[in-house]
Amino acid sequence: MSAGAWTRAWSPAEGAERVAAAFAEHLGGAPDGVWSAPGRANVIGEHTDYNGGLCLPVALPHRTYVALRTRTPDDGLPRGTVRLLSAQEAGAGLVTLDLADVGPGTVRGWAAYAVGVAWALREAGHDVAGFDAVVDSCVPYGAGLSSSAALECAVAVALDEVHGLGLGDDAGRARLAEACIRAENDIAGAATGGMDQAASLRCRAGHALLLDTRDGSTRHIPLDLEQHGLALLVIDTRAEHQLVDGQYASRRAACERAAAHLGVATLREVTDLDAALASLATLPDGDVVQRRVRHVVTEIARVEEVERLLDAGRVEDLGPVLSAAHASLRDDYEVSCRELDVAVDAACAAGALGGRMVGGGFGGSAIALVRADEVGAVADAVARAFAAEELPPPAFLVAVAAGPAARV
Ligand code: ADP
Ligand code: MG
Repeated sequence: MSAGAWTRAWSPAEGAERVAAAFAEHLGGAPDGVWSAPGRANVIGEHTDYNGGLCLPVALPHRTYVALRTRTPDDGLPRGTVRLLSAQEAGAGLVTLDLADVGPGTVRGWAAYAVGVAWALREAGHDVAGFDAVVDSCVPYGAGLSSSAALECAVAVALDEVHGLGLGDDAGRARLAEACIRAENDIAGAATGGMDQAASLRCRAGHALLLDTRDGSTRHIPLDLEQHGLALLVIDTRAEHQLVDGQYASRRAACERAAAHLGVATLREVTDLDAALASLATLPDGDVVQRRVRHVVTEIARVEEVERLLDAGRVEDLGPVLSAAHASLRDDYEVSCRELDVAVDAACAAGALGGRMVGGGFGGSAIALVRADEVGAVADAVARAFAAEELPPPAFLVAVAAGPAARV
């Protein structure tokens, strides 16, 4: 492989050891267990999840680990007390709060993603107590690979198990995903859709997860790129993205406004794109809304196309579809940025079959479909392009479809 920086995935034992050791040091004693949940790369279907659309994520081998111990009557603390520590947020120190004080707008900083899950489970009627938890992660942080959902989902499976909520099967995991989405939307204040949580909780190793966000149904599509001599190279541009700022929410609002204007529940229901675009032209900012809608509707069609290609074993043909998605995200949805464009262009110029930005955009990561024996050369070419553009060096990993959130 290339000389560029590669982000290594920890083994489960390594991840568990890190959080258990930190737990003993900072909270004392042993946790009830260690749970972990993966980040994700989305093959295709970006900004579709809040439009009732389709997406196709894979879980990464990179996971967030949580050592957790539930509050017990004999530990001397009120039942609602939560104490949290994260290796990625060492500066925040040990965060202590009470579940009774958690609600929309009341929790600042990273702890919102963790306690938000407990809050959402309580809102859904589950009797969830406070807890002690230590978090550590090898999921690239804030890099568009869903470290936020990895954190939420690791906490969710931990709370499910320590409280015996019985949400371990796929239907239960769909409920856990809903709780994680509420945590992110209502407590952390990020208006993201549901793809990340479904990917982290409901993926299967060796498969991509076709998620229909209209009804939450899924299909596991075998994705063995190696067998086809291919690899999915992930390029972490290291350009920081911020989902809690206005851009993501404004894209989502434009889609909702367009759907209302068109008289449909979500943009998934748009069946005649040309007619929809003509109707949207009458809006004051018609040309912008038209482009947003064109991205969403064509992107959902691209997911269907990728499904057909995978079913037909035509994996190489995914390349041009990925590149078409990138052009749509860049030009119509306007969520790309220079770093993402440099990454995709350089990868494709170096022989990638196609590539695109993933995640919310404005930074974060890109993916490129690459011949397996060219992974290092393509990564080197991307690193050189970043240097030539005087951008900080990117980091790389290979997305091999991994398993869902689970106890370690
Ligand atoms: P991503 O694309 O990685 O999901 P987000 O902006 O959605 O980016 O989420 C990143 C935020 O999630 C961080 O700023 C932090 O608040 C929280 N977070 C994620 N992973 C961790 C972790 N291991 N420890 C503490 N906070 C985390
Ligand atoms: Mg996120």
